Amino acid sequence: MRFSHWLAAVFVAIGIAPAAAQDFPKGPITIIVPFSAGGPTDTVTRLVAEPMSKELGTQVVVQNVGGAGGTLGAGQAAKAQPDGQTLLLHHIGMSTAPTLYRNLPFDPIEGFEPVGLVTEVPMVIVARKDFPPNTLQELIDYVKANKDKVTYANAGIGAASHLCGMLFMNAIDTELTTVPYQGTGPALTDLVGGQVDFMCDQTTNTTGQIKGGEIKAYAVTTPQRLDALPDLPTADEAGLPGFEVAVWHGLYAPKGTPAPVIEKLQNALKAALKDPTMVKRFADLGTSPSPEEDVSPQALRDHLKAQTELWKPIIEKAGVYAQ
Ligand code: ASP
Repeated sequence: MRFSHWLAAVFVAIGIAPAAAQDFPKGPITIIVPFSAGGPTDTVTRLVAEPMSKELGTQVVVQNVGGAGGTLGAGQAAKAQPDGQTLLLHHIGMSTAPTLYRNLPFDPIEGFEPVGLVTEVPMVIVARKDFPPNTLQELIDYVKANKDKVTYANAGIGAASHLCGMLFMNAIDTELTTVPYQGTGPALTDLVGGQVDFMCDQTTNTTGQIKGGEIKAYAVTTPQRLDALPDLPTADEAGLPGFEVAVWHGLYAPKGTPAPVIEKLQNALKAALKDPTMVKRFADLGTSPSPEEDVSPQALRDHLKAQTELWKPIIEKAGVYAQ
């Protein structure tokens, strides 16, 4: 009997399924997006899912489980079968949730097998198109003078839009009324419709509407201007020195997913991130795939730990918590 077969027989005898990558995938793969359809995390995931489907030879479908700043969907993914058939694509919120939520129903670091980093997306501060301020400095002055009537949209506590808003309010030392959504997809619809005043969101959700003149943009939150929106100043240039947020995304499987399955997913993700159509769409939306060396479990694990440490004191200083 060959060693691998002997090992498989031992696994079966003691009740553990062999971690055979050749059995994977066993049918369609579901990627849980912890925000609404049509938003930026959803857009990134759908763009990556298509070439991953080709690589894995099976359909990769997206399931939107929005709510509680991304923690509902992440909690659902943590509890899924650890067989690689259910995954999670989440952003920076994985690193901030442990500090923001006192009763988080999952452990972002210990409760998942990381697959790899996917992309890092800049954010832009945007407003409904008839909002009076026209520059970032005017926005700051307006918001300070009208703090009781201005509304700020976000995707719940721990969402990137919440973090960016929290940094903004801290920077200008002004508390505003926030309007939470299950994702910034629906928030953007309301911004275009004029139901809320402003928000801060990823370029993957806002570039088209900015270019189409449906919303007003004040600044990008990266140190450099973007090729996709070259006329837009950085927040640093426009009146908020040192103001920076970039929203990194990672792909995760539930804890206990066998290593050969993770490796297969990692290879499919790596290949997907080189797909020319996907790379072009990312560029049009002001972003780019993570470098190949970051598309690995170790790189994502290290980044998640470092970001968790980085955000902890910032959140504690802001003093915002969910239950
Ligand atoms: N951009 C959202 C956020 O604020 C999430 C989303 O809808 O994808 O985190």
